[in-house]
Formats: sequence, C-alpha cells, structure tokens
Amino acid sequence: MNEAKYVIVGGGAAGLIAALTLEAAGHSPVLLEAADEVGGRLRTDEVDGFLLDRGFQVLLTEYPEVKRYLDLDALGVQAFRPGGHVHMRQQHFRFADPLREPAQLFRSALSPVGTLNDKIRLAQLGFRLMRLSPEECFQHVREQSTIDYLWSYGFSEQIVERFFRPFFGGIFLEQQLRTPAAMFRFILKMFAQGSAVLPAGGIQAVARQLAGKLTRTEIRTGTRVVSVADDQVRLDDGSTIPTRAVIVACAPDPLFPQLAGSSLAWKSTTNLYFYSTRRLKENRLINLVADPTSTINTFCVLDEVAPSYKLRKQGGSLISVSLKECPDGDSLAQAEQDLLRHSRLPNDALSFLRRYDVKHALPQLDSVAFTYNSTHSRLIDRVFLAGDQQLNGSLDAAMRSGRLAAEGALRI
Ligand SMILES: Cc1cc2nc3c(=O)[nH]c(=O)nc-3n(C[C@H](O)[C@H](O)[C@H](O)COP(=O)(O)OP(=O)(O)OC[C@H]3O[C@@H](n4cnc5c(N)ncnc54)[C@H](O)[C@@H]3O)c2cc1C
Repeated sequence: MNEAKYVIVGGGAAGLIAALTLEAAGHSPVLLEAADEVGGRLRTDEVDGFLLDRGFQVLLTEYPEVKRYLDLDALGVQAFRPGGHVHMRQQHFRFADPLREPAQLFRSALSPVGTLNDKIRLAQLGFRLMRLSPEECFQHVREQSTIDYLWSYGFSEQIVERFFRPFFGGIFLEQQLRTPAAMFRFILKMFAQGSAVLPAGGIQAVARQLAGKLTRTEIRTGTRVVSVADDQVRLDDGSTIPTRAVIVACAPDPLFPQLAGSSLAWKSTTNLYFYSTRRLKENRLINLVADPTSTINTFCVLDEVAPSYKLRKQGGSLISVSLKECPDGDSLAQAEQDLLRHSRLPNDALSFLRRYDVKHALPQLDSVAFTYNSTHSRLIDRVFLAGDQQLNGSLDAAMRSGRLAAEGALRI
C-alpha cells in the first residue's frame, strides 16, 4: 500500500505554488499534470527561430505574489514602455502614461486620445489607487462593472473608446468591459506602480522558474486525473493514488459529480504571429486599435520589447496581434489586411507564423476577490481548490490561490 501523500492536480502557476508551499512545510507532494509539461496557461513554443507565447500575455512586476515568489533578474525580464500608440481609422497618436512618464505629460495632454479633463481624472485616479493597498482596490466596488465605473468617474466617451476599451478589453479579453470594477482598479494600480514585462525565455519561463525551485515534489506530466474523492484520486488509466489531502489546481467542475451542471464559463482569445521583413519601430509601446471596423484589438513588435524572442540574428520584426474575437479561419486574411493598414507596412512585408486560439484563457467571473481565508478553499473534507477562477483572472490570483489552498491543506 502506497503512503498517502499530498496530491496536487494541475501544474499551472497555482499548482506549482501549492507544491512550493507544501515543500516549505517539509512535505514531498505529488503533482499530476495532464499536459506534456508544466505551465498551464504559461506556455511558449519555438517556431521558425522565434519564441511564441501561447496567447499574448504580460507579467506585471507589481503583483504581490510575483514579488513574493519570482526572481525577475534571473528571468531577464524586458519591459514595455508605459502608455501606448492609439490607432484610429485615419489618425495615430502616442499616449503617454502621466503617472509613469511625467515628462511626456504636456505632449499627452495635447493628444486627442481623451480630453484634458480625462487626463487629469486618470492622473487623480492613479494617485488615489496608489494610496490603496491591492486588497482595498477590491473593496466597495464589487457589484459595479468596469464600464459603469468609468462612466461614474466622469470619463468621456472619447477616452473610453480610444484608450480604456482597447487597453482593458485586451487585458480582460472582453470588449464590453463588464469585468468587475474591482479588477480594473487593481490592474490599473499594478500598471501605475510597476512594469509590464516579458521574461527572456518567454512567458513559460515563469513556470519553469517555479518548477526549478521544487526539490521534493514528484512531478508526473502526461497524467490526467478523472475524479477526485476525499481519500484518493483516479487517473485516466484506471489507477488510483491514495491521498492525505488533494489540491485541485485546475477547473474543478469536470472532476466532481457534485459540480455537474455548474460548469465554469471561460473567455477566449485569438493571437496571431507575423514576421515582417521590414523592421517596425514602435518604441516598445503596445498598439491599441480604436477603430470599430478593425478585427484587431492590440498588436506589438515583440522583439523590440524582448529581443530574446528572436532566437537567431536576423533583421525584420516579430509582431504579435490579438484579435477582438475568436474568428473563423477566413478572417485571418482580414486580420492581415488590418495589420498592414495600422502598421503602414508594405503589402509584401508580412509572413504568417502561427495562430493560437485559446478557448480557456480567463475565467468569466461575476464577482472577484483579492484573497480569502485559506479554509474557504476547502471543497470537501480533504479536498482544496486553487486556480485563478477561485479569486480573479490573473497570474497573481493563481499564485495566491495555490498558496492559500496548500495552507488550508496543511491545517487539517
Ligand atoms: C492568452 C492569455 C493571456 C493572459 N494574460 C494575462 C496577463 O496579461 N496578466 C495576467 O495576470 N494573467 C494573464 N492570463 C491569465 C494567467 O495566465 C492565468 O491566470 C494563470 O496562468 C492561471 O494559472 P492556474 O494555475 O490557475 O491555471 P492553469 O494555468 O490553467 O493550470 C491548470 C493546469 O491543470 C492542468 N489540468 C487540467 N485538468 C487536469 C486534470 N484533469 N488532470 C491533470 N491536470 C489537469 C492543465 O493542463 C493546466 O496545466 C492570461 C492567460 C492567457 C491564456
């Protein structure tokens, strides 16, 4: 009879942090991951001499759990410049972040992205959020959507359509900005106080760094769990593993008959990568497309921000494009046309590299939280839940949920 161990189901950020927490308490957990590698939604492929993340994603250096667990120097992080380029149907503008680049304030104040009043309000809101703790960003606004919050704060339609909708639509992966305002406040605070960066080795390097810290965890990849009970987990080959406690660090609904009929809803995204023979200069800024006729929400010149994403020495640019919706196959040509239009590249400059349709990119949550008491993660006696869906759709939440679930399991 095998000794009953702490078992973690899922090797994304939440599962890896749960394993680190259990190791720190002197245990040797077993981590079961269905995919061929750990990382979950933090995965990177090598394609034709480029690093391509499976879906455009940035790491925010100000996330409390990032500061707690990640060695950003060792990750060789490379930062986006604050602000963005806004592309409208006929016009293109630079939009500086008045909080991060005060020297650009005058230029920014004159840009038509918003009114002067908008920019003053944005600066006021940023300074207000900087005085709040991350947890306080989640208080008093739980029932309000981001869009309602923006209207009630007095922002104009101009800045909502030209900045907030493309920028936060790209982060929340929904254009209506129905995501709870608490999340908007938290993310705005993170941008105001820290940087958006990419690790030298791609976003998967985050997961690899966490996994590299594990010394006593048995990691089994290619191992799918099909059901979880109080004292054992069952694998898809029919075998079972006895458990002292289980941390389910993935969507729980498929694993428990009790949760049937209450499956989690997910937001999806489509990300395209192109190589341009002509070098594109965007000053390490994200490009926001505020043109309702375009299929594109944002694009960026990845190798300008992260030269390491180009594995070989070659000219040209690596461009990542995030679409507004997950379109059918034919829309690829339209997206390419839109990219040529916004980037003003010549017709023959682009070659298509890869398309990623991420069906389960972010959980769709009507209410979000920064944290909770670790016992709240307990589903049944010796089963604890982790994953970003427990708190809010962010890497920070995934990491915190893993720690809290492990702390809960250690208390029984
Ligand atoms: C395209 C994209 C863009 C994003 N952008 C950002 C961003 O800019 N900022 C930000 O903070 N967050 C962003 N996120 C969200 C962030 O990546 C996630 O919040 C975080 O990675 C979730 O980690 P997790 O451990 O909760 O879940 P996951 O990473 O989904 O891990 C769950 C793991 O469980 C495994 N698994 C599932 N079922 C089973 C089973 N039955 N048996 C065994 N294993 C199983 C899966 O294979 C997976 O590895 C983005 C996500 C995507 C996809």
